[in-house]
Formats: sequence, C-alpha cells, structure tokens
Amino acid sequence: MDGLDILDPRFRRYVLPNAPLVKLGEGFAWLEGPVWFADQDCLLVSDLPNDRILRWSEGGGVSLFRQPAGFGNGHTRDRQGRLVGCSHQHRCIARTELDGSVTVLADRCRSKRLNSPNDVVCRSDGSIWFTDPVYGISTDYEGGKQAPELPPAVYRLDPGTGALDVVADDFVGPNGIAFSPDERLLYVSETGGQFDADPVQHIRVFDVAENGRLRGGRVFHKVAPGYADGFRLDQDGNLWSSAADGVHCIAPDGTKLGVVKVPFRVSNLTFGGRNRSRLFICASHTLYAIYTNQRGAERP
Ligand code: MG
Repeated sequence: MDGLDILDPRFRRYVLPNAPLVKLGEGFAWLEGPVWFADQDCLLVSDLPNDRILRWSEGGGVSLFRQPAGFGNGHTRDRQGRLVGCSHQHRCIARTELDGSVTVLADRCRSKRLNSPNDVVCRSDGSIWFTDPVYGISTDYEGGKQAPELPPAVYRLDPGTGALDVVADDFVGPNGIAFSPDERLLYVSETGGQFDADPVQHIRVFDVAENGRLRGGRVFHKVAPGYADGFRLDQDGNLWSSAADGVHCIAPDGTKLGVVKVPFRVSNLTFGGRNRSRLFICASHTLYAIYTNQRGAERP
C-alpha cells in the first residue's frame, strides 16, 4: 500500500499529491545507511546482511559499489565530501578517502572495542557523532557474533585529534542520529526489546551546548507503528522518521504531521536528488524514492 496520510494541514505544503512512490530496486537482504552524493548524482546504500554497499543512479540503476564492506550500516559525508560509515564487523567508524582508500577513524574507547556503530552524522565543526548499540554483534547475520566490551552509548569523535568522547550513555540501544538544521538540537532514536510487550520506540532530543556537550534528552516523539530507526531532518527542522508503515513527518513541536506510506517496514531514508527534495527510502528488501515539496537540510 502506498499513498499519503495527511494528519495535520501543515503536511500538505511538504508533499506532492501526484508524485508516485517509485521502486528503484528489490530483492536485497536488508537496506540501510543511504547517503546522497550530489556531485556524482548517485545514492550509496548498505545491503547489510549481504555485506555490500550498492550504488544507485538514475541512468545506471543499481550496481555494486563495494563488497565485502565490513557489514556497513549507517553512512554520511564529512565537510570535504568523503564517505563516513559504520562497520558492524570491524566495530568501527571508517572514512573513505578521495583516492578510495579506507581509514579507520575510531574503533576503541579507553582501550575497549566499540560494539557495532549503527548510524553517524557530521557536524559543521568537523566532529563526527555516532551511535554504538550492540545489534551488529548480536547475530552472525549482520556482522558476526562477538562479545560487547562497552555499554551502548552515543559518541563524538574529533577526526583531527582522534579524541573520542561519550556524550550520552543512558540508552538501551541508541540508533538513528541527526542534528536540527541550526545544530542546536541533536535527535537520537532509541530501540530495544522489539519482541517485548512494551518495546522502546521513541526519539529523544538533546540541547547541544557551545562546548559540544549535551543537555536534556527528553522523549521528543514515540513512533508507532513500529519504531524509529534512521531519520533525517528537512530544512525547516521537521524530522522524517522510519516506521513500520512508511516515513513519518514529525514537526519540531513533536506532532506527527503525516505519513508517506510504504509497503514494507522502513529502516532508514535520506533526502537527495536535484534540490535535495527527493526522498530515498530503505524499506526492508526494497529501495523506493518519492519526490516531495520540501528540501532536506544541507547536510546529508
Ligand atoms: Mg539504524
């Protein structure tokens, strides 16, 4: 089923009633970590259990970008346009240099190995922020069973000095992560106990202080049905979140404005295409896209 659910009149200005949900590819194991490369007019996306990163372009369709890929999950780009990604298998944050070589930026905190970095975002000051739950080392399917050495946490990395700081540690399973357009707010989704009667399925919001420390952390929105995995912000500060029935658009005040309905569970999404107004959607085994009447925030 697809289409639009308009729950609040504010949603109407952001969507195009006639724009179809287009299937770009299918038959993947589990899609994650989409990132748009405007200068190359293409999307990179993880096919996580198949241990590969795929490339999609309008003219070329889906092709293989990298395999093996360290069971990559979330991706973003830094201020120099380099690909920055999370590896479950190697339990690290890695950067792909412009010459194609790969540099591990962080794989340990206080000499203990990270768990399985899940999603990542860069701030305009160059710092790299990421979540580190245990999901990727809980199964052989998504990276290989390994013992955790650290509690789940959210980290800030200075890629220049290598300094790695825990910025939040009161999470069951931190997952998606993104800043508001002005970078004064940091949103982090939390998941856990998805097979329990009362699963964790909310997004929290923190104030980001001048020195990069976080304050607050209240529950911003509880996603239902399903849970918030990855998400992105648009240029007005609305948060577009993954959910079981599609992509939910949530206003800065926490109100769910509407739903872009998608036939399969959504794990992650990103804005891309010309003007950053096309939403690329990882929906389980299928990749979709839909044009919106809104633009993503400047950062990927
Ligand atoms: Mg995730």
